[in-house]
Amino acid sequence: MAKPRTATPITETVYTRARYWQDVPDEKWMDWRWQMSHRLNSVAELEKVINLTESERKALSAKGLFRVDITPYFASLIDPDDPNCPVRKQILPTDKEMVPFESMMEDSLAEDKHSPVPGLVHRYPDRVLMLVTTQCATYCRYCTRSRIVGDPTQTFSRSEFDAQIEYIENTPQVRDVLLSGGDPMVLAPKLLDMILARLRDIPHVEIIRIGARVPVFLPMRVTQEFADMLSKYHPLWLNIHVNHPK
Ligand code: SF4
Repeated sequence: MAKPRTATPITETVYTRARYWQDVPDEKWMDWRWQMSHRLNSVAELEKVINLTESERKALSAKGLFRVDITPYFASLIDPDDPNCPVRKQILPTDKEMVPFESMMEDSLAEDKHSPVPGLVHRYPDRVLMLVTTQCATYCRYCTRSRIVGDPTQTFSRSEFDAQIEYIENTPQVRDVLLSGGDPMVLAPKLLDMILARLRDIPHVEIIRIGARVPVFLPMRVTQEFADMLSKYHPLWLNIHVNHPK
């Protein structure tokens, strides 16, 4: 019998949470929309749960330099008193990042040079990288695409998705499509569904991969309903990118 489609996260576990959120009802804590709308990005908000260092405070106060947004769930995994906590180092900037260095590059992987249409990178003959959003659940310090990721003015339009898909349709050597961004799992499900359906309809596309950190930053997003939508396109490969056992 088919499982009912629900918006409930697949696991019933109430994930780790910092004391600051102890009184938030489980129902809200486990709601990915609540997590997204309560992300932390200012010194004042972060100080409620983490003892910030001077260096972090300085970087967080620099206007328009770093995109910082941290889900309450992921912030709860940080050791509030350890400046070297490996979870914290992934997402909190320090003032060291404000110092320019000789070999710094905006586009260190030279993706823009290999982009035949906006948002599509075709560097290797049989595979393409399809950027479907510039938004993520939480932003990483080491992002190689930070020139566009997190910038709300850099979004992809429906006509750009069409141009990306048409390019793949007209390029038969492409057998592997990696959806990335930003994080494709923050896209509206209907839009992701549409993109996956169109890619699945292309006979020469054998492999579809999704590069996502949502299962790490926002596991509540993986609801039964969302998993059911993805499962229509099985086999899909999900590259999750976990940096630390915490
Ligand atoms: S989740 Fe990926 S795209 Fe988003 S900030 Fe982190 S590395 Fe960059």
